[in-house]
Amino acid sequence: MNIDLHCHTNLSDGHLTPTELVELALQRRVDMLAITDHDSINCYKEIATPIDDLKIITGVEFSTTWRNIGVHIVGLNIDLTNKQFLKGIEFQTTARAERAQQIDQKLQKLGFSNCLEGAQRYSGGDQIGRPHFAQYLVEIGAVSTMQQAFKRYLGAGKAGDIKQQWADLSDVISWIRGAGGVAVLAHPTKYKITRTKLCRLLEDFVEMGGEAIEVISGSQSISTTQSMAQLCQQFELLASCGSDFHALEQPWAALGMLCKLPDNCIPVWTRWQ
Ligand code: AMP
Ligand code: MN
Ligand code: MN
Ligand code: MN
Repeated sequence: MNIDLHCHTNLSDGHLTPTELVELALQRRVDMLAITDHDSINCYKEIATPIDDLKIITGVEFSTTWRNIGVHIVGLNIDLTNKQFLKGIEFQTTARAERAQQIDQKLQKLGFSNCLEGAQRYSGGDQIGRPHFAQYLVEIGAVSTMQQAFKRYLGAGKAGDIKQQWADLSDVISWIRGAGGVAVLAHPTKYKITRTKLCRLLEDFVEMGGEAIEVISGSQSISTTQSMAQLCQQFELLASCGSDFHALEQPWAALGMLCKLPDNCIPVWTRWQ
């Protein structure tokens, strides 16, 4: 089975439309796909299900903070009509819009004008995020690549990295669980924290009702996979896998091209199969 449970469309910071993403998944012979846009479920309004040969699992990627560190939680197999969950999406949407204004002001202080309008052009009117500001900074020649935009202006600790706007980890997990879904810690190796701190995060995550981690996130080394599988066993978590696909130009996050989960892991999809 080819399974990919983490990817983005242009309704958040991905480049393909929901329809184009589904077409790509079919081309790559993906059997089970969850689209997990940042704080948005609007892609599901555009996709007509069921689709022959492709099982769609509803999903979302929530931004949250844990002890002042930005952490991403993927919710899978969610009832998209659940009222409390929809309120959560609304809360995050407002937080994103407000943060975008704050980023605009910070960048203005650094001498860059019209950043909000510029970023909105790239976001296409749905969830706005830092990558859209990065695209605008490239457009105006402030930086030469998006990577550089994050390094200088938008990444952790830089002017455009606004703290404390997202819902708490416990709230995000309860929205997901309340809607019948599974809460998954996304890309556990991407948080620039020590193993000890990651274990502390997992302790809290489990206590709050988190049930899975991404043992495989995009292309990664075998030792990383083994290390994540070990955490899975230690904390009695289910294992998920996702490319975190955003665009065709990013081969390290290619849709539907993931390595198999290690045999000692219990796959998250056992929860809905
Ligand atoms: P946001 O959700 O608005 O905080 O933006 C975070 C998103 O920016 C992530 O999901 C990635 O897609 C992207 N991102 C994070 N770091 C970088 C980076 N260094 N270079 C390019 N894109 C990045
Ligand atoms: Mn992203
Ligand atoms: Mn993420
Ligand atoms: Mn993602």
